[in-house]
Amino acid sequence: NWAHVEMAPPDPIIGVTEAWRADPDPRKLNLGVGAYRTEEGKPLVLACVREAEAQLMADPNSNHEYLPIAGNAEFCRLARTLALGGDCPALQGGRVATVQALSGTGALRVGAEFLAAHLPSTAPRVVYLPSPTWGNHKTIFAKAGFQVREYRYFDAATRGLAFDGMCADLASAPRGAVLLLHACAHNPTGVDPSPQQWARILALAQEKALLPFFDSAYQGFASGDLDADAASLRLFVRSGLELVLAQSFAKNMGLYGERAGALSVVCKCKDTAGRVESQLKMVIRPMYSNPPMHGAAIAAKVLGDARLREMWRVELKGMAERIISMRRALYDALYERNVPGDWSFVLKQIGMFSYTGLSRVQCQKLVNKWHIHLTLDGRISMAGLSAQKAPYLADAIADVVAN
Ligand code: PMP
Repeated sequence: NWAHVEMAPPDPIIGVTEAWRADPDPRKLNLGVGAYRTEEGKPLVLACVREAEAQLMADPNSNHEYLPIAGNAEFCRLARTLALGGDCPALQGGRVATVQALSGTGALRVGAEFLAAHLPSTAPRVVYLPSPTWGNHKTIFAKAGFQVREYRYFDAATRGLAFDGMCADLASAPRGAVLLLHACAHNPTGVDPSPQQWARILALAQEKALLPFFDSAYQGFASGDLDADAASLRLFVRSGLELVLAQSFAKNMGLYGERAGALSVVCKCKDTAGRVESQLKMVIRPMYSNPPMHGAAIAAKVLGDARLREMWRVELKGMAERIISMRRALYDALYERNVPGDWSFVLKQIGMFSYTGLSRVQCQKLVNKWHIHLTLDGRISMAGLSAQKAPYLADAIADVVAN
């Protein structure tokens, strides 16, 4: 029956870690990994998470019953408040519908399915994604029936934002199209708009009646400040726009495999939010019935307990600062080696990734000659780097740039 089935292509990101694992060279480095690593290259379980987990385990009333379709209601409330801010008028007005989701990916998928079914019949089923973007965005929206289009985002010449191109592309989008925006720490480029640029993007979204869909996978992870990293989203919500928000706790709480996330739809009124939530549940029920409990319970404990939350804030800042210090270490090492070109973008880019502009051939050489594993688009995960390994990476980059 399955003889005709063809081998699917390997996932370009997951494949990097597999290749790294199989590489016997002791100097090997995994810069493809999209997860935080300590200076020693190890995964990190936050102390606040360990403590929340211990409390959950010790609770004699805990059980393994099903969650409701929309998930853990307390988690949903705390998650959206974290993103939108406690003083958010939309929250105070009860006009935000939130469901728990299978991390950021699941939130995007449920959101896309909801939009495909419930956007007004006059709105085009067209989504605008930044070019480039996280690879899964395209497939998620295409599977939900959207026509996928790109707006210019990364300018290879400056390794910064192609802002004029972006504005021109949004200005020519059809009215009512969905506009996907990375709330902060754009993946893969590490390039975010400035506050002034965000204001212009908001104005364009309003002019063209675009529906913003914020993907917030790195709140607190970019700058170390949870509120600063939510500024773009909050600007849009306060303008009165309706929008969609996908949240992930994978990176900022280190809950990767627990799949803790949330999907929120900001509506014009409370009544609409109630109806929207009922339809989100209709999307979820035939997909997976209800979400898993453990990760959301941990996140709810951390967010809801003042002491654990403060621990989290400090630990999150520590992760963000280590990543920022890796940018400095890499930049300094490149500078010392007089590597040709302007590498100041390494310092300017934000979040876990740096988009180096290295060519495919140069990346292949990093892998084959230097045992430095990365995606061939030149994206490096700063989280995979250590102070000890930064000089080695700089030697390797100097070599592939020179030859
Ligand atoms: N959006 C972006 C931009 C991401 O980088 C990621 C993680 N790589 C996600 C969403 C989803 O991650 P998860 O499903 O693990 O929360």
